Amino acid sequence: MSTAGFNSQNGTGTGQAYANGPSQNPVALQQPPGVSYGMTHQPTYNPMQAKAPAPPGPGLYPAGPYQPVPPVSSYQPGPPPTSYPSSPGHPLLPRPPMGGHPSHTPPQSASPSPGPRIPPGQATPPPPAVSSSSYYPNPQQPMAPTWQYNTPTPPLGPATSISAPPVGPVANHVNPAASLSGPSPPSSSAYSSGPPPPSISHSATQPPGPGMPPTSRHGYTQPGVAPPPMNPMAPHTYQGQPSRPAYGTSLTGPPPSGPPPTMKPTPPPTGPPVANATPPPPKADGAVAGNGPQAPNSYNHLDNKMAGPTPTGPPGRHLGHYPSLPPGYQNTSAPHATPPMHPAMQAATQPYTQAPQPYQQPPGGPGPAQLSPSLAAMSLQSSTPEALRVVNLLQERNLLPPTPIPAPTPCLTQDLQKLNCSPEVFRCTLTSIPQTQSLLNKAKMPLGLLLHPFKDLSQLPVVTSSTIVRCRSCRTYINPFVSFLDQRRWKCNLCYRVNDVPEEFMYNPVSRSYGEPHKRPEVQNATIEFIAPSEYMLRPPQPAVYLFVLDVSHNAVETGYLNVFCQSLLDNINSLPGDSRTKVGFITFDSTIHFYNLQEGLSQPQMLIVSDIEDIFLPTPDSLLVNLNECKELVQDLLKSLPNLFEKTMETQSALGSALQAAFKLLSPTGGRMSVFQTQLPNLGVGALQSREDPNQRASAKDIQHLAPATDFYKKLALDCSGQQVAVDLFLLSAQYCDLASLGCISRYSAGSVYYYPSYHHQHNPAQVERFQKDLKRYLTRKIGFEAVMRIRCTKGLSIHTFHGNFFVRSTDLLSLPNVNPDAGFAVQMSIEENLDDMQIVSFQAALLYTSSKGERRIRVHTLCLPVVNSLSDIFAGADVQAITGLLACMAVDRSVTASLSDARDAMTNAAIDSLMSYRQSVLTVQQPGLLAPACLRLFPLYILALLKQKGFRTGTSTRLDDRVFAMLQLKYQPLAYAMLMIHPALYRVDDLTDEGALNINERTIPQPRLLQLSVEKLSREGAFLMDAGTVMYLWIGRNCHPNFLTQVLGVPSYAAVPDNLYLLPELDTAESQRTRAFIGWLRDQRPFFPSLHIIRDESQLKASFMQNMIEDRTESALSYYEFLLHLQQQISK
Ligand SMILES: [Zn+2]
Repeated sequence: MSTAGFNSQNGTGTGQAYANGPSQNPVALQQPPGVSYGMTHQPTYNPMQAKAPAPPGPGLYPAGPYQPVPPVSSYQPGPPPTSYPSSPGHPLLPRPPMGGHPSHTPPQSASPSPGPRIPPGQATPPPPAVSSSSYYPNPQQPMAPTWQYNTPTPPLGPATSISAPPVGPVANHVNPAASLSGPSPPSSSAYSSGPPPPSISHSATQPPGPGMPPTSRHGYTQPGVAPPPMNPMAPHTYQGQPSRPAYGTSLTGPPPSGPPPTMKPTPPPTGPPVANATPPPPKADGAVAGNGPQAPNSYNHLDNKMAGPTPTGPPGRHLGHYPSLPPGYQNTSAPHATPPMHPAMQAATQPYTQAPQPYQQPPGGPGPAQLSPSLAAMSLQSSTPEALRVVNLLQERNLLPPTPIPAPTPCLTQDLQKLNCSPEVFRCTLTSIPQTQSLLNKAKMPLGLLLHPFKDLSQLPVVTSSTIVRCRSCRTYINPFVSFLDQRRWKCNLCYRVNDVPEEFMYNPVSRSYGEPHKRPEVQNATIEFIAPSEYMLRPPQPAVYLFVLDVSHNAVETGYLNVFCQSLLDNINSLPGDSRTKVGFITFDSTIHFYNLQEGLSQPQMLIVSDIEDIFLPTPDSLLVNLNECKELVQDLLKSLPNLFEKTMETQSALGSALQAAFKLLSPTGGRMSVFQTQLPNLGVGALQSREDPNQRASAKDIQHLAPATDFYKKLALDCSGQQVAVDLFLLSAQYCDLASLGCISRYSAGSVYYYPSYHHQHNPAQVERFQKDLKRYLTRKIGFEAVMRIRCTKGLSIHTFHGNFFVRSTDLLSLPNVNPDAGFAVQMSIEENLDDMQIVSFQAALLYTSSKGERRIRVHTLCLPVVNSLSDIFAGADVQAITGLLACMAVDRSVTASLSDARDAMTNAAIDSLMSYRQSVLTVQQPGLLAPACLRLFPLYILALLKQKGFRTGTSTRLDDRVFAMLQLKYQPLAYAMLMIHPALYRVDDLTDEGALNINERTIPQPRLLQLSVEKLSREGAFLMDAGTVMYLWIGRNCHPNFLTQVLGVPSYAAVPDNLYLLPELDTAESQRTRAFIGWLRDQRPFFPSLHIIRDESQLKASFMQNMIEDRTESALSYYEFLLHLQQQISK
C-alpha cells in the first residue's frame, strides 16, 4: 500500500492533516518523513489508528488520536479554535441556546448551527405586504447611540481611551486659540470620550511657513534628549520616557515659541495589545452579549435578533416530523393543490431516462424533492461517462485541453443546474457528494469548498426588502433549492424545517404579481445581495476609514516607493470607495513614529513626532483621521510633500511594531483599513525581528526552517485589530529578508492582504514598479466591505471544519472579516457526520454580511446545490481536479508549518497515489496495465508534480524564504482561478497568432492560441512563447525567432537587439503587434491584479525563472513528469 501523508486524508491513514472525518485530526502527525521520490518503502496504513473514533477534542474539530500538534484549522495554535485567544470563561459557542421550542428543535447538527429564535415578544411586527424599500424601517429606533459620530462616547474604559492623550498637563501648553476643539467639524471630534481634549495642536503658534515643504514639524523634545537627527525642520517630537512614565514629556518649545510643556505622555490604559484584553468595542446597546469581547457586529447576535421575519403563528406542524421526514415527500403531503412553481415543486416524475452525459442532465428533470431514487444508478445505466473514461497516463502524454479547463458541472437536472451558483464563486472538490463518510474515505479525495465570495460581478441581483426570509431553525436564507409545499410554506433545504412564507414574500417585485413566491428573485438566483434592514446592525454602519502607515527609513527612501505611493494616491484619491463620511489618515515611521495633523483649517499639514516607541500614544487623536472631503487639500499637500520630506534621511531603523500599535489605536474607535508599507526587517521596539535565513542553506537544507512566525506579536495585534474591525494590508517591498512568516500574520488574522515586491527599486526594477503602480490602483479603487462576517452553512449531516484564507474564526462556522475585498478567496474542508441516506441533493450557503463603502449594511448570499451519490464511480465522475488541487495546496501549506515541508510534500504525493489506487481498486472493472486514471483526474498527477515544484513547496532549488512564504500565503488566499495559474502556468506560442478561432470582445479580436505542455520540448528556437504564471508573465524569445515577430511585435531588427530589461511591448501599428498585445491584455483583464511581463532571451537572468516552470521536465533536484508517473505507478502496484 502506500505511504505517509495524504493517503490518510480520508481517515484511513496514519494520522494526517487531510482527514475528512470527524475522527480525523487536521493536524499532522509528527512522523518520519515518508516517501520522497525514488524511495520505495513507506509506512503502511494503520487502519486501527485511523478508524479509531476521536475523543472529544476542543473546538470545532475534534482531536483525533494523534493530537500533538496544534490544529491546522483556523489558525488557532492551541485549544479551541473558537476562542478569541483564550478568553477564559468565554463560551465556545456564544450563541444562546435555541429559543423556547425545544420540541421543534431539530437534532443538533454540527454544521448549520441553528440560530436562536427570538422570543415571541420581540418578534418583528409583520412587515407591510409589499416589498418596501425602507432601509431603516424604524429610523427612530434608538440604536447604538454611542455610535453616532458626533456623540461623545460615554466612558467605556479601554475601548475609547485611546483618544485620550494626557489632557491635564497638555492643556497648559496649548494655545487656546489654537485649540482644535472649537469649531471642529463633526467628524473630527468623533470617538473622543468626553469633550474633545484640549488639543495639542500648535498650529496657531506656527507661523504659516511658506517655502518649506508644506508639512510643518514641531519638535517636542525631552530635555536632554537629542532631537531626531534627520529633522532639519525641528518637528514636534513627543519624547516620552518609558522608564519614567510619571514624568511628563516636556516640550522643548513648539517652535517658534513656548516653553516645553510638561505633557504627560501617559499612554492609554490599554497596555500592549494582549489578545484577550481587547476592550469591548464602542458599546452597541448591549446586544453583543455572549459574543466575546470583540464582536461589535456579531452575526451570532443578529441571528438571534433576526429570528423572526416569519414570526407569524406557532411553529409549523411539520416540525415535529423533522428527523424522520426525508426530503422528497413534500408533494405528497402538500395539502393544497398548487400552481406550477419553482422547479423544486414541479411534479416531475420522470426518472433519469437519458443516458447520462457526464456533466449534463436532460432537460426538464425533476426538482430536488423528486429526484429519481438514485443518481448513482445513472452510471450503471449507461456507457461510461467521459469523466470516467480510462486514461493510461503513461501512454497519453498530451493531456492538456486546448483551452483552459472549465469547472465540471454537477450532475443535476438542468432546471436545478440552471439556478446553481457559478463555479467562479463557489466550487466543491467533489461535485457529487458521497452519501457517507466511509464512502468518502474510500475515494481518498478531500472534500471541501472553494469560495470567491466577494468577487466583482457584472450582474448581481440586489434586493431591498424589509423582510429577509430565512429559516426559523437554522437561519438559512431562502434560496433556489428550497422546496415549496404550497404557496404558504417552504421547506428549508439545509435543516428541512417547514417555514411559513411571509405575506410580503407573496408579492413578486420583479413581475409585480402576487401569489408567486417561487418566482421571487431570492428563489431564482443562487447569488443575491440583500440590503439589510436595521436589525442587521448593532451600530450605524461604519464609514470608510483608510489609514496609511508608511516606512520612511533610509532603506525605504532608497527604494523610491514613496513617490509611487503618493502619486498613486493623489491620482486615485477621488476614486477611493466611500461617501461623505470617508476618513483618511497617515502615519510614517522609522525609529520614531510620525503623525500628521490634517485638521481642517490648518494652513498646512503638521507633523507630530512621537519618539517614545515603547509606550505609544496618539498626540492629537481627533485630528489624525480626518474627513477626506473636508480636508482633501491638506491631504494632497501632504502627499505632494512626503517624498521630499524624508529625502535625506539617514535613519536606518524600523519601529514597525510601534507604528502598528499606533495605527491600531487610531483606527480602533471606527474600524477600517490599515495599509502598511514596509521595506525592511523591523529591528526596533516591540515586534522587532532578527534575520532567520541563511542564504547558503536555501538549496541544501534537509528541511525548510522558519516557516512559522518568530513571535506572536503580529498575530496578537492582528486579533486585536480584528476585534475592532480593523484589517491590515501589508505591502512588503524589499530586497532583503523581512521575515514574512512573522509579518504576514498581521494580515492573515485580520483578514488583510499581503503584497510582495521582492527587490523593489525605482530604477533597477522597472517591472516591479509597474506592477506596484497597477496593484495600487486596483487596491485603492476596488470594492471594499467593512465590518464583515461570513458564515457557511451546509445541509444537515455535513460538517465544516477547517478554514483556509485570511480571517479569524470567531465561532465554528463564522469568519470574522474586518475588511472583505473582491480578490480574496477562501477554502473550507468538510466531513460527513451523518449519512445522507435519504437525500438526493445537499446545499451549501455562504452568507457575507458587510458594510459597503457607502454605509449600507448588505448581505451577499451564495447557495450551491450538489447531488448525493452512493457509488465510488459517481464520486470519481464528479471530481473537480482543480478544486482538489487548490484545497490540497491549502492543506499542504498548513502541514508545512505545523509539521514540515517534507511531510507536506509526501502528503501531496500520496494524495495522488491514494486516489488513483482507490480508483483502480474500486472503480475499474477491468484491470489493465499502466497508470490508470479517470479522465476527470487525468491532470491530477501533473498538478501534484507542479505543486511539488512550486515556489512554496520546492526543494533542492535555491528559494528565498520570503519568496517561499509569500507563495504559501498566496496559495491560501488567492481565489482558485489565480492559484491554479501559480501552480500550473499556461504556456502559449505567440509568434504565429492568427485570428482563427479568436474571440471578439468589445470590437477587439483576441487570438486564442492553444495551451502547450510545460516542457522545453514544446519550445522552438524559431518561435516566441508566452508563459502566464498568474502574477508574472514571461515572453521567451527563441534565438532564431522569426524576424517578422522581432520587427513587427518587438520593434527590434534582430534577436541580439532585444534589450535585456524589456518589460513592455511597444505599441506598434502592425497586425502582429495588435494581436499580441490584445492577447496579453485579455489575459491580464481576467484577473484583478496586474501580472508584470518580462521579455527574456536565452541570456537573460530571468531565464531560470522561466525554465523552472517547465514542470514536465527533469531538473537536478526534481523528477520529470514521466518519472513522477513511474513513481506513482510503482507505489500503486505495490
Ligand atoms: Zn433550516
